[in-house]
Amino acid sequence: MSTSRPKDRKRAILALVAHDEKKDDLTEFCVRHKHVLQDWDLIGTGSTAKRVSEATRLPVHAYLSGPEGGDAQIAARVALDEVGAVIFLLDPLSAHPHDPDIETLQRVCNVHNVPIATNLAAAELIIQPKTINEQEE
Ligand code: PGA
Repeated sequence: MSTSRPKDRKRAILALVAHDEKKDDLTEFCVRHKHVLQDWDLIGTGSTAKRVSEATRLPVHAYLSGPEGGDAQIAARVALDEVGAVIFLLDPLSAHPHDPDIETLQRVCNVHNVPIATNLAAAELIIQPKTINEQEE
């Protein structure tokens, strides 16, 4: 079963996505948790990846911008069980032209039991150094 952090300290992929109104929040979160995020291989939608990479100086593989299909690209990697966790800070107050892709990304996370945080409180839990699963081992 997927856990939110690589067991035995192997690197795993963490996907980062934030809607425009949430990009400042995600960037600040990533700077604050840079010491944890550097244990992950980071990927993200185009603008989010650029913002986080510039602010943290960590490498973030950039897919297409969300409205151009970036969420769908990340969803494909989740469907292939290549992604350990997703932090997707949604703007719940706006409609987006790529809502179908956003739904797809959340759906494949649920199908494949991959943790997805859609707000900062849940994002904090995803990057905890120890998950409940690991503590039980
Ligand atoms: P962006 O895409 O990081 O390219 O802005 C995010 C989104 O809106 O899904």
